[in-house]
Formats: sequence, C-alpha cells, structure tokens
Amino acid sequence: MDSPQSPRLQIAGKELINFSSNDYLGLANHPRLKEAAVRAVEKFGAGSGASRLICGSLAPHHELEDALAAFKKTEAALSFSSGYAAAMGTICAVAGKDDVIVLDKLVHASIVDAARLSGAKLRVFAHDDLNELEDILRWTKDRSGRTLIVTESVFSMDGDLAPLREIVALKDKYGAWLMVDEAHATGLFGKNRRGVIEAQSVSDNVEIQMGTLGKALGSSGGYICGPRVLIDFLVNRARSFIFSTAPVPAAAAAAQAAIDLVRSAEGDALANKLWSLVKETKANLTKGGWTLSAAQSAIVPLHIGAETKAVETAAALRDDGIYIPAIRYPTVARGEARLRLTLTAAHTPNDLEKLFAALSAIHNPQSAIKNA
Ligand SMILES: *Cc1c(COP(=O)(O)O)cnc(C)c1O
Repeated sequence: MDSPQSPRLQIAGKELINFSSNDYLGLANHPRLKEAAVRAVEKFGAGSGASRLICGSLAPHHELEDALAAFKKTEAALSFSSGYAAAMGTICAVAGKDDVIVLDKLVHASIVDAARLSGAKLRVFAHDDLNELEDILRWTKDRSGRTLIVTESVFSMDGDLAPLREIVALKDKYGAWLMVDEAHATGLFGKNRRGVIEAQSVSDNVEIQMGTLGKALGSSGGYICGPRVLIDFLVNRARSFIFSTAPVPAAAAAAQAAIDLVRSAEGDALANKLWSLVKETKANLTKGGWTLSAAQSAIVPLHIGAETKAVETAAALRDDGIYIPAIRYPTVARGEARLRLTLTAAHTPNDLEKLFAALSAIHNPQSAIKNA
C-alpha cells in the first residue's frame, strides 16, 4: 500500500476501493489523531526509550490509561504495545497450571496462544454453544483452581455477537471469571460507544475487558480495563507489559485523541454513518442472493467455501477496482474461505455503488452452489 489507510488505496500505481480495513470510523488518517501524534513526537520524541517499569512510562501513556478507564467506566486501565500483547500478558498472569481456561471455538489467535502458554487446562466449546459451555463449567465446579472464560464480543471473521448476558449468567452460577475481547466493538457499540459490554448492559459483570487501539480507535496498541486491583496485579505480573519497550508516545497520544473523538458528537455521527452504510450493504447483498449469516457488525463476510474459489473471486473484484482479500485457512477453518468485507464511516455512497456493481457482475459463487 502506497497510501494512508483510507477507503482509497494506492497499490502499485493503481487505485482500489478498500473494503478490508478495521479502521471502522476512518480515524487512522483523521487530522485530530495526526495532530495529536505530531504534538507527542515534538514533545516526547519518536521513541519511549525503555520499558514502562524502567523509565519508559511517559505522560501520554498515563493520560491514555486515564482516558480509557473514564471511557469504559472502569476503575483503571493498562495499555500494551498491541492487543496481542494484552491477551498474552493478561491471560498468562491470571491463569496457571492449576486453573482452567474456557474458550469459544472461534476466539482470536492471540487468546488461543495465550491460553496455551499459560499452562492452564484448556476447554473449548462450539461457537456460541451455551449448553456445552455449561457442561464444561459443571465439570470445573469440583476442581480447586480458578476458571476463566474468554470470548470476543464481536467475532472477527464472522461479525456476529456473543450472547454476553447468557455467558455472564453461567459464569456467575459456576463462580468463573469472564474476559471479553472488544477488539471489533470498542468505539462502535452501545449508547456511549464503549462496546457490546455496554450494549448488552453487562458492564458490572465482566472481570476483564480487553481490546485494541488499532481498529476503530485508529492508532496502535492494546488495553485492559478493569478493577484497580487487577491493573496493579498486571503491572507487576504481565510479562508482555514488563519485558517490552513502552509503546511510542505518538501511538498513545493518537489513541487518546481517538477516545476523545469517539466520546464527542463527531464520534456519534461517524458511528451512525457506519451503521447506515452497513444496513444498506446488507440489504443490497441479500437482494443480490448473498447469504449473510449472522453478521451484526461492520464485518460482513461473504462466505465462499473453497479456498481457490475465494482467491479467484478476490482477484476478479480487484480487476474491478475493489480490494477485499480472501481469508483462508488457518485464519478460518478449511473449506470456509470467505471475502471478509468490512465497512467504514469513511466510505461514500459512490464507493458502495461500485461495490454492489462489482459484486453483481462477478459470478456469485453462492448462487452457483445453490443451483448445483
Ligand atoms: C486484532 C485483534 C486482536 C489483536 O489486536 P492487535 O492490537 O492487532 O494486536 C485481538 N483480538 C481480536 C479479536 C482481534 O481482532
């Protein structure tokens, strides 16, 4: 890519309309974030110089963490160099070999890797299968260790939402802890755009809230929000926090500017615009014969199935000026290849028209399957 993150990408001299970004609110290239980053560079330099616990803990990191806690309405927050690092450091700090970690089958690789590294006993339930989750929790009841359930609130490759209220009811019934990854929800869902935790009114029932600063918040980094005692514990025990150079000041400052923006009237307007584009897209594609499964977010996957077919379809779209790469194994299961179409508030009605035209012009692999 030879251009900033935006709906229009320059790739090797060609302009393509980008329908694959996680920059859901169009903030990655927003003037307010860029100004905040530039100001931070001028005041604090390009690098942070050391890990947080040595001398790399700069004012922008603390201001970001205060802003995150205020935004999410938790006692405290901790920022990491990435969402991946946040999952790694946190899961390995709170669960060990005497404990059980229970995962939805479709959680992100960062959570799977962290759960494996923690040494805890791993149990996986079929996607959204609350009966299987309860069977596992029943089994943990007689064990002595702690039980940690980890789920995403918006699933990254399917765009569907987790039933957080039901999961909270189960974790309360069996005395487990719940960690929710809001990577694709922060800034988008709920009255104050805090995420699906807010939208489903379970803010007081989730022990550990996790997310990234690199998607709707348009910057880079990861975070954990929760009680003060959890954050103090992580400062002392999360190895990806302790043994890694602090994020650059520009990233922290840009993320803080993004939180301010999301909490303003402009943030509301951007999110509302995004949801209306999502609605229009789903209506148009459904009319065109695409089956859109349970997608309820800005992620609208077009399921293709065969890997080669998905790659061919992506190539045909690219010839038409539309960029949606094929997502294949190992990011998704074998034979479940898809075009992971995402929308952002920065798309224009004209962008959508071009998308709809290109999708109806290509051979629709889904209707081909149905007609076979
Ligand atoms: C992107 C993502 C992460 C990792 O966040 P980074 O900041 O990119 O490391 C974690 N969980 C989910 C669900 C994601 O989609």
